[in-house]
Amino acid sequence: MEIYDRLDRQYQMFAKEYKEAAVRVLDSGWYVLGKELESFEREYAGYMDSRHCVGLNNGLDSLTLSLRAMGIGKGDEVIVPANTFIATVIGIVENGATPVFVEPDAYYNLDADRIEERITQKTRAIIVVHLYGQAANMQKIRDIADRRQLRLLEDCAQAHTASFDGRTVGTWGDVGCFSFYPTKNLGAFGDSGAIITDSDEIADRMRMIRNYGCSQKYHNEVRGVNSRLDEMQAALLRVKLGHLKELIKARRAVAGRYLEEIHNPAVLLPGVREGATHVWHLFVVRCQKRDRFQAYLQEKGIRTQIHYPIPPHLQKCYADLGHREGEFPITEQYAKEVLSLPLYNGMTDEEIQYVIDTVNAFR
Ligand SMILES: *Cc1c(COP(=O)(O)O)cnc(C)c1O
Repeated sequence: MEIYDRLDRQYQMFAKEYKEAAVRVLDSGWYVLGKELESFEREYAGYMDSRHCVGLNNGLDSLTLSLRAMGIGKGDEVIVPANTFIATVIGIVENGATPVFVEPDAYYNLDADRIEERITQKTRAIIVVHLYGQAANMQKIRDIADRRQLRLLEDCAQAHTASFDGRTVGTWGDVGCFSFYPTKNLGAFGDSGAIITDSDEIADRMRMIRNYGCSQKYHNEVRGVNSRLDEMQAALLRVKLGHLKELIKARRAVAGRYLEEIHNPAVLLPGVREGATHVWHLFVVRCQKRDRFQAYLQEKGIRTQIHYPIPPHLQKCYADLGHREGEFPITEQYAKEVLSLPLYNGMTDEEIQYVIDTVNAFR
């Protein structure tokens, strides 16, 4: 058996609809900034309980351009989880702002109790990341942002439709940032991303920035870029959005079986915080003998991944930030111990059982 996070199963489930949508776009003669994107933006905003959605090229742009739209840049500090994917940090650094790292809690998300000690005169914003698909501790973080008058951005790239205290992620902050990279729970068939916001001002600005900085052709009001979600991806995303509830339900079922049936003292299972929901973008376990565990699974035909082996503060490209090993010990420990088990839409019962049995047999 060969088990790995595969994307073709999900495509096959709805292949007929995807093909119809693709042909509709091809036949339309209109490929960028058209009806499909307008429809997707309207549908996604509604789905996420938000007033606006602005489609972009990718998830990284949703972070970089949101900070830009809020005027956050040189001399500003932005609080960010130390335990995150590099893109969250790139979004800050590429605006000339400084990332200020905060350790994670037991749920791998930004530890709300460690935020305030890192706030200074220069702090302008907090970025939370709903890592692996579980909502962060949003009520507390929203309170801190309000009390300290900081902007709040949510990196929801892994957590489409997760919620905290019944409120959808992406609607707690000023802006919710999304990636539709193919592997994400709501994935396209190429790169794309979006932001959601209730602010007319931020939405207007983002629409200008993504299209060279103009609201009217050839009148460039702000410094913009080219970051448009094209018609083909928008049309394909609309198909998947129509099935997102059932797709997430299926991910929950796999995760539920892993949680119930994996019993191995060497393997620490993920927990879910009270008040939070988890949409299981990734099923991340921890093991002190992680590398041996991963090699064992590989030998048995189970391909796993590590999210993430090197934390951003120790990446070579950010050596100039001056961080050193040992500075964020929890993050660094997680990086040495985490392992993501296969979890994808269309996973068969036989495949799930094989993963469970193989993990349980690890010594
Ligand atoms: C995938 C991801 C991004 C970046 O999205 P892209 O579309 O690949 O640019 C940002 N943040 C997190 C947490 C992600 O998982």
